Amino acid sequence: MTTDLTAANQQLVDAGQGSAQWMERYQRSVLGVFGTPQRVLVRGEGAHVWDADGQRYLDLLGGIAVNALGHAHPFLVSAVTAQLATLGHVSNFFANPLQIALAERLLELAQAPEGSAAFFCNSGTEANEAAFKLTRRTGRTKVVAATGAFHGRSMGALAMTYKQAYREPFAPLPGDVVHVPWGDAEALAEAVDNDTAAVILEPIQGEAGVRPAPAGYLAAARRVTRAHDALLIFDEVQTGIGRTGAWFAHQLAELNGGDDITPDVMTLAKGLGGGIPVGALVTFGPKVTELLQPGQHGTTFGGNPVAAAAGLATLHVIERDGLLANVVAVGRRIQEGVQAHPLVDGVRGHGLLIAIQLREPVAAAAASNLLDAGFIVNAVAPDAIRLAPPLILTAAQADSFIAALPAALDSVPQENP
Ligand SMILES: *Cc1c(COP(=O)(O)O)cnc(C)c1O
Repeated sequence: MTTDLTAANQQLVDAGQGSAQWMERYQRSVLGVFGTPQRVLVRGEGAHVWDADGQRYLDLLGGIAVNALGHAHPFLVSAVTAQLATLGHVSNFFANPLQIALAERLLELAQAPEGSAAFFCNSGTEANEAAFKLTRRTGRTKVVAATGAFHGRSMGALAMTYKQAYREPFAPLPGDVVHVPWGDAEALAEAVDNDTAAVILEPIQGEAGVRPAPAGYLAAARRVTRAHDALLIFDEVQTGIGRTGAWFAHQLAELNGGDDITPDVMTLAKGLGGGIPVGALVTFGPKVTELLQPGQHGTTFGGNPVAAAAGLATLHVIERDGLLANVVAVGRRIQEGVQAHPLVDGVRGHGLLIAIQLREPVAAAAASNLLDAGFIVNAVAPDAIRLAPPLILTAAQADSFIAALPAALDSVPQENP
């Protein structure tokens, strides 16, 4: 018997033989909402992960835009380990210095005015659920979201999510949410009226296939919400925390047109904890901050010292190592490098949130070929491949993907050969 839990976990992994045996046990024990997993992963380091058969992969999905610092980053590991060994969880009946420091840091990075505040939770869904509840406190109920939007799977977050296949099995959802065509400033202006509590938008729609807001759209959303005294909510769960080369995507000149577009509410998760579950709701200014009063919302785990330490460590390393500049440079390198193949119709996105648009609906086959070749990517749409790699991705690692892509595309079954 071992007293070393790391060794014990390693034994568990070793005892499972190969991927095939693990997959069989998965099918018999884990709820089947995720379909069939593509591989069984057992270890990670930097931008690489290894499967139960010893095969190595360059992780260009980063746990869906989560592993900002890659895998097993020494600074994150030591910050989380030290905090867990000091004070792991206390509930929100008590304050802890880490949570306060993380709130202050986020407000600073968001350039939030005096009277702003952060609420911590454990996921993007929870952050958006909190935002949805907050909109009800305006005294209005109408929420305007966009076609293609993804905001999560709880009932409130799902009500703001667009995809019918996610929504329909769970009707009726909380009411008074309308969806307007993504990127159409005129349609948005028509939908927002004096009964509108809020408009919620992703600066770049992630799950819809990495679709950046068109020029002027976010500014138009800011104008129309202000004119009707409605809240503007940016869901930066996928786009925040350096993913696009700015701390938050709405700070990118390409998306804000050089204007300072401060939202009323911003939601965060994914990259914030670098792999530890951390979500956050940020309220801008006292009027918005005061909408949720004591007792009107809460969480057991949210903002616990370990989660907050993970958030602080992630933000620290991004700044210390100049990762925003790396994101811009490596992102540009990928965007320029993948264009040449005849199946590639174009690329879109900012920084290290990229979609490679294909001319045929062969993204799943291409992703499968890439996986066999040692690259993890995501078929975000039938005809689009998404990359959301760790922010530490090097130029050389990007080049290895650029070099491997043509062969992976060459060997997809063609519809019109
Ligand atoms: C992933 C995502 C969510 C949901 O986050 P979870 O952590 O999966 O609950 C919400 N909004 C956006 C834009 C996302 O990309």
